[in-house]
Amino acid sequence: MILSDKYKLLRKNFRNFAETEFTTEIQEQLDREGGFNWDLHYKMAKYGFMGIKLPVEYGGQGGDTLAYVLMVEEFARVCPVLSIYANTPNSLGSGPLLTCGTPEQKKKYIPPLASGEKKIVFALTEPGAGSDAGGTLTRAVKDGEYYVLSGRKCFISGAPLADYAVIYAKTNPALKGNKGISMFIVDMKLPGVSLGKPELKMGINGYPTSDIILENVRVHESDLLGPLDKGFSTALKTLDGGRLGVAAQSLGIAQCCLEESIRYAKERKQFGRPIAKFQAISFMIADMATEIEAAREMIYSTALAKDAGEKDAPMKCSMCKLFASEMANRVAYKAVQIHGGYGYMRDYKVERMYRDARITTIYEGTSQVQQMVIAGNLLK
Ligand SMILES: Cc1cc2nc3c(=O)[nH]c(=O)nc-3n(C[C@H](O)[C@H](O)[C@H](O)COP(=O)(O)OP(=O)(O)OC[C@H]3O[C@@H](n4cnc5c(N)ncnc54)[C@H](O)[C@@H]3O)c2cc1C
Repeated sequence: MILSDKYKLLRKNFRNFAETEFTTEIQEQLDREGGFNWDLHYKMAKYGFMGIKLPVEYGGQGGDTLAYVLMVEEFARVCPVLSIYANTPNSLGSGPLLTCGTPEQKKKYIPPLASGEKKIVFALTEPGAGSDAGGTLTRAVKDGEYYVLSGRKCFISGAPLADYAVIYAKTNPALKGNKGISMFIVDMKLPGVSLGKPELKMGINGYPTSDIILENVRVHESDLLGPLDKGFSTALKTLDGGRLGVAAQSLGIAQCCLEESIRYAKERKQFGRPIAKFQAISFMIADMATEIEAAREMIYSTALAKDAGEKDAPMKCSMCKLFASEMANRVAYKAVQIHGGYGYMRDYKVERMYRDARITTIYEGTSQVQQMVIAGNLLK
């Protein structure tokens, strides 16, 4: 897609920010030690990135989905985990509130997200309910003006940093599967809320992931989000946008792998010539670039389709996530191959990109779940 000057400028600004601020030192420290870089979080917030796609009336920048995917792509090209910092408040964090929050809830919870002051996490997955999110066992039982929540959520991105969590809980066990589930905004400081230990992950280190445990947590009915028993459809709507974000993240990872591979293949000499001169290597690079371009076109046009409210946009978001995440893994694999033994060493960026790429086919719906969504749409 030929980007207009406005988007070209935006892309340039995102790239400049990432290349200047996401220093190699910061990236390596996050990967080695995990944790979270609050300085960068606040800096991204100062530049408005936390609210790039959030409405101006709630303190956001009012950007569109194309601006958002360009941001995630450019940030992930330099550092995939740091792209998550700015991605989450624009996607899974704000999604349920924007989709069905009351005006009071929106006014209370969205502006501090856009300003980076507060963090809300999206807590759907449970130990026994991953792809089958309808199998949620967390319960919410009405008691006067309160709902009493008990259960355990797992693998929640950003849980150790969170001020609030959007928790999905069964409110009507008589309704089976994904019916009878409701959403609640839970203040993480409420009595009965605790965290599991941060998970030790293969990649995207520097954005902590942990369980959220709820033991008789009393949530006021004003923090019920959206209609009672209908939380699952909001989850699906929120995930559409999130999936496009993961697709953009995958695209950025793949782009980095391509650039590193081109540079390395031109420099590295074997048999008296740069390895780029061997057709086996140059064809790998040609394939990588072609797949990346296909994903980019698909993602940008889906961003436009989403904003235009096209009927098949949700399915296209799944297609983008499926294709781009699998593509990023193929590309990262080839990038390590082109780097030979050096690609297996931590000193080379493709080693971390290879590990970071791996999550993209798993979170926000595995590739198999995307195939189920796409097939379900086509075969109705
Ligand atoms: C780092 C990380 C961060 C995460 N962040 C969050 C978060 O912030 N919030 C949140 O709610 N969740 C989060 N998740 C959870 C993530 O969304 C789930 O891990 C994912 O949906 C898969 O669920 P599962 O791990 O239980 O795997 P399972 O559902 O057990 O799947 C195992 C395998 O079986 C396949 N499978 C399952 N059902 C079918 C089927 N019907 N047909 C074909 N294949 C099938 C899957 O595709 C997969 O290959 C995160 C996970 C990770 C690893």
